[in-house]
Amino acid sequence: MTTDSKHFLSGRKIIVSGAGIGGLTFVLSLLQFWDTEIPPPEVVIVDTDSRDESINRWPYELLLNSEIDASSLVALRDLGLYDKVKARAEHSAHPGAVANVWDKSWKPVLTVKPKLFEGFTSSSLRISRTALLTVLIEALEAKTKITWKTSVHDAKRLPDGRLSVSLLDKASGATSQQECDVLVAADGDESTIRKLFRPKDISQPTGHVAMGGAVDFGSLTSVPSEININSGIIVSGDGVASGVLHIRGNGTVVWALYKEEKSPRTDYDKKDKDQFAAGGVQSTSGETLSELVVRLDSQFEDDIGLFVLFFLNFVKLQAGEALFLVADDIHAYVSGDIIECMAASDNVVRAGFTPKFKDVSTLVDMLTYNYAPIDEQKMTPTEYPYATLNRAGYSSGSAVLLYDPPIDEFAVVRSVLRGPDAKATFEPLDGPSIVICTNGSGTISVGPTSYEMKEGYVFFVGSTAELVLESTTGEDEEFTTFKAFCEVDDGAKEKL
Ligand SMILES: Cc1cc2nc3c(=O)[nH]c(=O)nc-3n(C[C@H](O)[C@H](O)[C@H](O)COP(=O)(O)OP(=O)(O)OC[C@H]3O[C@@H](n4cnc5c(N)ncnc54)[C@H](O)[C@@H]3O)c2cc1C
Repeated sequence: MTTDSKHFLSGRKIIVSGAGIGGLTFVLSLLQFWDTEIPPPEVVIVDTDSRDESINRWPYELLLNSEIDASSLVALRDLGLYDKVKARAEHSAHPGAVANVWDKSWKPVLTVKPKLFEGFTSSSLRISRTALLTVLIEALEAKTKITWKTSVHDAKRLPDGRLSVSLLDKASGATSQQECDVLVAADGDESTIRKLFRPKDISQPTGHVAMGGAVDFGSLTSVPSEININSGIIVSGDGVASGVLHIRGNGTVVWALYKEEKSPRTDYDKKDKDQFAAGGVQSTSGETLSELVVRLDSQFEDDIGLFVLFFLNFVKLQAGEALFLVADDIHAYVSGDIIECMAASDNVVRAGFTPKFKDVSTLVDMLTYNYAPIDEQKMTPTEYPYATLNRAGYSSGSAVLLYDPPIDEFAVVRSVLRGPDAKATFEPLDGPSIVICTNGSGTISVGPTSYEMKEGYVFFVGSTAELVLESTTGEDEEFTTFKAFCEVDDGAKEKL
């Protein structure tokens, strides 16, 4: 190890845990401003996420200022990144913009003109975290390697004062040890390193906590003139204040409501769960709703789709029960296994709780906005008259039930054949069927052709063919299949 007494980090090994805003700017500054006459430190920077996950995880926008020499935009300028950041910014503050405190009638009670740090023409800009991180990552990758999908999951101080750091490679699950002189905790709000070395330091925000969102006024001309250029806070005089901040030239304004939290916010108090949502509704108790909200929030964190559940019926279906949903009715499957049969359609439009594409405006346009109690939407299955059970089937209590929705496109038959040799013979139909097995094992025969069938197997059965299902399960087991079918002539489903 070559060291130089002129700098305490010379020749040392530094591990930086976290390639977020803090970790990236720390390493960039260290490498950029290091005196090339002095042997440099060895820097290893790791992040638990993949490069893409890290860039895209939090899409919120950041306000970056340039008022004093310690401001973020001044630091970015010193790193030679200001122009790149500005080029990707959503909005730069107007050079003449002021910050106001307005009363209810937009009369300024207080006006502050932000200072401009030397060389800057605008006091602040807004940039998405995604864009800022992309600029920082690309700049650092031009100088050194970032090790993605690797987390610091343990660290110990050694007797000689150095540190032994345990790294977890998330792709392989393998752990490795590295020794270093300095371990930089840039691993965010939930820092693992802080928990290891300062377990009592817990971040508990108090004071004025902002809750907010964005309003799209459609165009710049429809934004109230008071906030067209300037930002500020409207005080109501009743103890409630709303902050407004014009962010883009297209007429989008962010707002926030401020609420004082006198003590650290606690997690939702589960003791009150039966009182949650005013005790719930007739079909769903407060206790059930509270469990659902907490569970869904843990599965899809920070997803505004969570609130949709308060507009929907929450239905727990038992095996064999079914619901009919008309086209364009909003619905969400929460858990468990179901069979869904859907008429031919060219789209599924999603609004939340999904990593897939969301198209909220199309969904909002196309929804039915109908409502009905759960019982009215449940289907009552009836015995399917065009299937015959053999003796083994009858005596074992096997059943073939029809779920016939009030539309022409399709119907579904559920067959539960209990025990070995139970058999159901289906009369030919003037239309095709699709048969899926969800439980047990058996055979499916169409004319002289016979195939093995078990859980997960799916068969297409052509029109006018006689179909036979036969169980090969053990004594107390069931061979369960669902057959979706339609009849294609004018008298669709005429047999029903
Ligand atoms: C909604 C919102 C709005 C905000 N608005 C602003 C704003 O307008 N202006 C502003 O200046 N600030 C704003 N902030 C704050 C700002 O985003 C944070 O201060 C900043 O991101 C903190 O950077 P960081 O590098 O410390 O942590 P992070 O950006 O959280 O980065 C931590 C990194 O560490 C990684 N990591 C975690 N654990 C480990 C581990 N064990 N091993 C290895 N890697 C690990 C994570 O994957 C992550 O990449 C806002 C924050 C939020 C949530």
